[in-house]
Amino acid sequence: MKFSTIAVHAGQRPDPYTGAVCVPVSLTSTFAMDGIGQLRGEFEYARSDNPSRHALEISIAAIEFGKHALAFASGQAASTAVLDLLQPNDEIVATPNIYGGSYRLFHKVYNKYNIKINTPNNTTPLAIYNALTPKTTLVWGESPSNPLLDLFDIAETAERLKNFRNEKGEKPLLVIDNTFPSPAFQNPLLLGADIVTHSCTKYIGGHSDVIAGAIVVNDDEIYEKLKFYQNAAGAVPGPLNCFLLQRGIRTLPLRMKKHEENAYKIADFLRNNPAVEKVFFPGFEDFPQHELVKKQMSGLPGMISFKIRGNIDNVKKFFAGLKLIILAESLGGPETLICHPATMTHAALPDSEKEKLGISDNLIRLSAGIEDAEDLINDLKDALKL
Ligand SMILES: *Cc1c(COP(=O)(O)O)cnc(C)c1O
Repeated sequence: MKFSTIAVHAGQRPDPYTGAVCVPVSLTSTFAMDGIGQLRGEFEYARSDNPSRHALEISIAAIEFGKHALAFASGQAASTAVLDLLQPNDEIVATPNIYGGSYRLFHKVYNKYNIKINTPNNTTPLAIYNALTPKTTLVWGESPSNPLLDLFDIAETAERLKNFRNEKGEKPLLVIDNTFPSPAFQNPLLLGADIVTHSCTKYIGGHSDVIAGAIVVNDDEIYEKLKFYQNAAGAVPGPLNCFLLQRGIRTLPLRMKKHEENAYKIADFLRNNPAVEKVFFPGFEDFPQHELVKKQMSGLPGMISFKIRGNIDNVKKFFAGLKLIILAESLGGPETLICHPATMTHAALPDSEKEKLGISDNLIRLSAGIEDAEDLINDLKDALKL
């Protein structure tokens, strides 16, 4: 079936017992047994599995066109579960320009297991391939990336990895953080990735009211390892959050179309405003990797980054002038949000790293919501009269 049908129905068929059209919120921590070793139903203890999370995991696997999904208490909890597949002294190749929280997790948490991060100078599949070492067990990428919307060729990278074996004789796993495009516009497993991670806090939840994460995989063995970890470490989402995410998934295709439409209009407006120095938007014909958008994505999320002319004082003035658009971390909600990567989402990066990546003081990231584009543009227009 097609994506919008899957988004409405997968994991969300009427309850066989009551006929409820929406999956009931299963508020119970444990499930009665009929005797030792005899479960009454499918479930035993809610951390291990429960009806709300089970239904959500079916939905998420289906919208990513994957075999298995696992839900977590946050995007970072999902990323941590993936990193737990590593052994001490293993190495990661991570594309430049990833989410600041991933950078922090790699460099400030997993460093104590002596896990080294190698970053290629650019995101061509060749540069990624050349960054592999005999110890590389994982290649971590974000496309489009946070915050500069850099793309890399997922299928070609996956193809190149097939010809590489590390010193354990294993092919490094290709992990894609697919939070930005959402499953509506990009499905990395179909492009050859091994593992997809999501911050469901963003587009999947879509209403700025839940923190959650997910992993999707096809391989049964990797799934069993991650499932074991999910129960053992226990960073699982509560049943109400699972319900809210499933509700979000039903309208994901609709919402993404509106985010995309608004992003195109806002990007065009920003590009033509004299107070704006540069706009990063993969939808522009002259965006350096525009061809990749056509190759591996079926649309663009509402993400735009731009630099305004001037310095931090001009940025402060601009933020203070916004009346409708909200200054806040996060993205993918119905309301348009704006943020300052250098001091917010990417504050964890050392200054030298920010400078190398182009995360300057005058860089602004915008997540176009689903409001009327004209109202958003009028708000930006007024605030840009610096
Ligand atoms: C927000 C975000 C995360 C982290 O997700 P949380 O749900 O906040 O833990 C990871 N990756 C990307 C690209 C994000 O935008």
